[in-house]
Amino acid sequence: MENFDREHLWHPYTSTTHPLPTYKVRRADGVYIELEDGRCLIEGMSSWWCMVHGYNHPVLNQALKEQIDRMSHVMFGGLTHDPAIELGRLLLKIVPPRMQKIFYADSGSVAVEVALKMAVQYWYAQGKEKKNNFVTIQSGYHGDTWNAMSVCDPVTGMHHIFGPTLPVRYFVPAPRSRFGGIWYEEDIEPLKEILEQHHEEMAALILEPIVQGAGGMRFYHPEFLRQVEKLCRQYRLLLIFDEIATGFGRTGKLFAWEYAGVQPDIMCIGKALTGGYMTFSAVLAGDEVADTISGGYPGVFMHGPTFMGNPLACAVAKASVELLLSYSWEEKVKAIESQLKRELAPAALLPQVADVRVLGAIGVIEVKKPVDMAFMQRRFVEEGVWVRPFGKLVYIMPPFIIQPEELSKLTHSLVKIVGELKE
Ligand code: PMP
Repeated sequence: MENFDREHLWHPYTSTTHPLPTYKVRRADGVYIELEDGRCLIEGMSSWWCMVHGYNHPVLNQALKEQIDRMSHVMFGGLTHDPAIELGRLLLKIVPPRMQKIFYADSGSVAVEVALKMAVQYWYAQGKEKKNNFVTIQSGYHGDTWNAMSVCDPVTGMHHIFGPTLPVRYFVPAPRSRFGGIWYEEDIEPLKEILEQHHEEMAALILEPIVQGAGGMRFYHPEFLRQVEKLCRQYRLLLIFDEIATGFGRTGKLFAWEYAGVQPDIMCIGKALTGGYMTFSAVLAGDEVADTISGGYPGVFMHGPTFMGNPLACAVAKASVELLLSYSWEEKVKAIESQLKRELAPAALLPQVADVRVLGAIGVIEVKKPVDMAFMQRRFVEEGVWVRPFGKLVYIMPPFIIQPEELSKLTHSLVKIVGELKE
């Protein structure tokens, strides 16, 4: 069986000729991933930010079982259903008040594609076809599809080899002002300059608010968002927030925009939206954006995926959001944050380590040299935890249901194994 996987299945960002070992999972429950050989690993990644309530959750299982007996799918063109409506009602209560229209999509990357298309169509509808490019900040990550790739950091965003084939976007340096630190006024200057010169070609600015994820795991100052908003209004650009990774409590707020009080014109959510059960996302827009698109040629927004508004995904998303809101997630995330700060602090003293940072339920150890993934993955599994570093970043973002002693096992393994890296 394992040979079949090695011979035929392509894994994410993995070589087919020299693949890293894959570990076969028999089942997963709560914060535990049980391997085929019986070993149980404590989950440190929430399956890439999404599995916030843990695996095999009875409430989410039940929501799917009930929905599957009614209908697993119908097309969303010309038809609608309760799961889509109920999820929409719930979402509108928790997203920025300006967001009034919801476009369901298939995945995070597709949500980003949809958001970028909305921005282009918004200006097209007003006869401003030339306003069709984008500006973003370095160290960002927005997904793996074509236009999403074009707004990822050209170097750390993992897509630089596609360079000349990608649409060319404008990049400005990411803010140096750290979250919780001093605000450096000069952080906003490069954006000011580029907008002065090029705003007439730009449809929108897109960024991940407060936390830049896969492009560098950076946490930046909320003032940057306030300044960005001012400039976007001044130079007439739409503001797009990609909250696909930051959404649903991960940073300590339900959504990261709340740290700055800045509402975007368009916002993407995904990942933890379904509690990690299914791929699903939503693009939220203000009435002004939606009505302008609808008021221009051809009078409709030009996107409509086959599985749009999939009832199973909507039903489990609704159950997951309700579950999140039903317990004191904020206290839970705060407790995880304090414990991460306390228990990762010793890593800062290691010679291998460049920086240690924590925000909400995200803990990052940045090391000085890119890590040997094969070594680290094996060592983490030997220690009984599941952590998958990349580049110089060894990080964890556990499910919110993790218990303090389980989290301690994760943090201690992290510090221990980083200490084993070659200096
Ligand atoms: N935006 C951000 C901020 C992300 O972190 C990711 C996924 N890591 C995406 C978009 C793309 O989402 P997906 O993998 O579901 O396409």
